[in-house]
Amino acid sequence: MALDSHIEKVIWTAGEISDRVAELAAEITSDFPAASPAPVLVGVATGAFVFLADLVRQIKLPISVDFIRADSYGCGTESAGAPRLSLDLKADVRGKHVILVEDIVDTGSTLATLISHLEKRGASSVSVCAFLDKPARRKVEFQVVGSGKYYRGFECPDYFVVGYGMDFAEVYRNLPYVGVLKPELYS
Ligand code: 5GP
Ligand code: MG
Ligand code: MG
Repeated sequence: MALDSHIEKVIWTAGEISDRVAELAAEITSDFPAASPAPVLVGVATGAFVFLADLVRQIKLPISVDFIRADSYGCGTESAGAPRLSLDLKADVRGKHVILVEDIVDTGSTLATLISHLEKRGASSVSVCAFLDKPARRKVEFQVVGSGKYYRGFECPDYFVVGYGMDFAEVYRNLPYVGVLKPELYS
C-alpha cells in the first residue's frame, strides 16, 4: 500500500509548512542579531529532525546545532508519563542562548523536563521553537528561561498527527506533510 494511502486527511501541506518555517526562521534571525556566540539550536530527537533541518537552513546567523532526547511515548499515541533524558547534549551550553526545537508540544511534560535540564547546565536563556502546539492537552505549563521566547508554527487540533518528522510506531516520519492516519491503522 503506497504511503499516501495510509492518510485519512492532510492537515498542513508541504507548501504551507515551508512558508511557516520561513517565517519562524526570519523571526529567530531578527531576535538574535548580536548574540555572541550565536544561539545553539537543540533538536529534540527524533521527531524534530525534519523541522530542525528546514529551520536551520533559513536562519541567517552563525548558529550551532545539537541534539537531546527524552523518552516517554513508546509506540502508542498516549504519553507514558514523566519523560526520561536518554541522550544528553554534546555542547557546553553554559552562558549560551539555547533554542529547543520540538516537533509538537502535547502535555508539555517533555519540554518542562528539558528546559529545567538546560537551565541547570547554565544556559543564559532557553527559548522554545515548536513546530506544532496542542494546547487542548496541556498538563504541565513550561516557561522559557531568561530572555528566551516561545516560537510556534501552528496550533494543532486534538488529533494524533504524523509526518514531517512525527511518527506512529516509528513509521511515517518521512511524509513531507502533516496528516492523520486512517483509524484502522492506529490499532
Ligand atoms: P509531551 O511531553 O508534550 O506530552 O509530548 C511530547 C512528545 O510526544 C512530542 O515531542 C512527540 O514526540 C509526541 N507527540 C505528542 N503528540 C503527538 C502527535 O499528535 N503525534 C505524534 N506523532 N507524536 C506526538
Ligand atoms: Mg518530540
Ligand atoms: Mg513518537
